[in-house]
Parts: sequence; C-alpha cells; structure tokens
Amino acid sequence: MLSQTVLHRIKAASHVCVFTGAGMSAESGIPTFRERNEGLWAKHDPLEVATPEAYKKNPQLVWDWHVHLAEKVRKASPNAGHQAVAKLQALVPKVTVITQNVDNLHQDAGSCDVLELHGSLFRLTAFVDKNVMYSDERPPVICHLCKGYAVWEQCDHFADRSDLAELKLATGRVPRCPGCGALLRPDIVWFGEMLDPCVLEGAVDAADSCDVLICVGSSLEVEPAASLPYRALRRGAVVVEINPVPTALSATADASLIGKAGDILPGLLRQVWGIEIGR
Ligand code: NAD
Repeated sequence: MLSQTVLHRIKAASHVCVFTGAGMSAESGIPTFRERNEGLWAKHDPLEVATPEAYKKNPQLVWDWHVHLAEKVRKASPNAGHQAVAKLQALVPKVTVITQNVDNLHQDAGSCDVLELHGSLFRLTAFVDKNVMYSDERPPVICHLCKGYAVWEQCDHFADRSDLAELKLATGRVPRCPGCGALLRPDIVWFGEMLDPCVLEGAVDAADSCDVLICVGSSLEVEPAASLPYRALRRGAVVVEINPVPTALSATADASLIGKAGDILPGLLRQVWGIEIGR
C-alpha cells in the first residue's frame, strides 16, 4: 500500500520514469538472470557465451545460444505488468520506460518511449573487432548497410539493403553483412561491453528530470543501469520499488512494494487512478 503522500505525488506527476529489469518479464515466462542455471539459460552460462571474446572464439556456438533464447522470447507475450506500464501513457503527460530487458515486451504492450539500455534481441549489428588498429592514415571504412567498420576496404554500395532488413536471429550459419562482409551479431550489450552512449544519456536525462521513478524487477546489480534509481532518489523524485524480495534500494525508496510486477503494477494503477487492468 502507498502512503497518502506518495499516492498524491504520483497522481500529480508530469513525468514518470519506469525502470525495469528481468523480473518484469518473469511472469511472461522469461526466466530472470538469477535463474540462469535453469530452463532458458541451461546448457551454457550466459557469462560464458554472451561476451565478445566468446563470439570471436566460436561465433556459431554463441549465435546458436542466442537463437535458442530468441525462439523462447518470441513465444512470450506481455503480462499484466507490461500492460499497466503502457496504460500509464494515458494517465501521465510524459512516461519514459528504461529497460534492461532485450525482449521487446514493453513495445509489444504499447509503450512508446522505451530506452533499451542493453539493446534488443530483435536487431542485428556488425561485429566490430576492437583489436584492429585504425589511424589517421588508415581510417576505418564505415559500412553504409550495417554501420560497422567494413572488413573489406570498400563497401559494396550496390548490395541489396533488403537482405539486411530480413536477417534476424534464426537457425543456420552466422550471417554476414551483404555490404561489407562483416560478421553480424545480436544488437545486445554483452558482458564487458559499453552501453550505447546515446541511449545511456537519454536514460540519465530521464532519471534526472522525472517526478517519479518506478523500479520494477531488477536486482540492481548491473551497472551503470543500477545507479539510475539512486540518481532520481538523490534529486528528491519519488522512488517506488516493486520486487518480490527486498534489494539494496528498498530501505531508501519512498515505497517498497513486495510482490510480483503483474500483481503490483495493476494494483498501483487501481489505487492511484482507479483504473482496472485485467490479467
Ligand atoms: P536479475 O535477474 O539480476 O534480477 C531480477 C530481479 O527480478 C530479482 O531482484 C527478482 O527478485 C525480481 N523478480 C523476480 N520475479 C519477479 C516478478 N514476477 N516481478 C517483479 N520482480 C521479480 O535481473 P536484472 O536486474 O534485470 O539484471 C540482469 C541482466 O540480464 C540484465 O541486463 C537483463 O536485461 C538481462 N536479462 C534480460 C531478460 C529479458 O530480456 N527478459 C531476462 C533475463 C536477464
């Protein structure tokens, strides 16, 4: 239950930021990272296959692991929690969703302003070999198709663009960019990689300007994402946490609602705006 003060501040908010982690999609059947030794994550630990080093060593193994993950994720549908987040857009002037998830379920539920901090399983990008040295004398050729550094000295400017649009994580050989020959990879942030600076800047701006931040289903152990709720908290924004178990944020948040996203988020809409979201 929310206190009357928190309830009124949420109702008066003109910008609500919803920050989500793997727990947001747990009720859609996608296990959280914590459950990585079961079901979806079984066979290979993501720490062993979701790294650029692993891809360089064995692209096909890493590709096949991601294909398996994408097949499971494609079968999942948004749950009542995702639907409640999407519904917020009709109740608050501005809503920004910052997600660590790569499953597209916020967009499937109808959320519009979604910042995907860790990328998306539904896009491919070029695999850039960071060990290749470029200099002023030898600048990299940027491929016009996949936007990666071309592995051929020149891109084929007449390559068929539809080839790239149609490529997705699917069984078979690891695809290469039809324009420059670069090995393609899922456009997600692997362990040890930097976040897209533009997406991170958008997320920091949102955390620094929102009136309310709702943190859902994150263990808050992955940086720099984990710092975002604390930025909002330090500035005086109302921070509400939703998680079945307490986290490091729970003690300092304005409200720590213990429970599942699919129960608590619809309950929050009911309590603040009197809106019903069906399961
Ligand atoms: P995490 O696995 O570290 O933590 C998940 C959190 O969700 C835990 O605190 C757990 O108590 C909570 N939780 C479990 N069930 C819940 C429910 N029904 N409702 C609300 N909360 C629930 O996840 P993380 O903090 O997001 O970090 C792990 C990394 O792995 C992130 O980068 C994440 O994007 C990635 N990942 C993504 C997906 C996905 O796209 N769906 C799934 C697994 C992991």
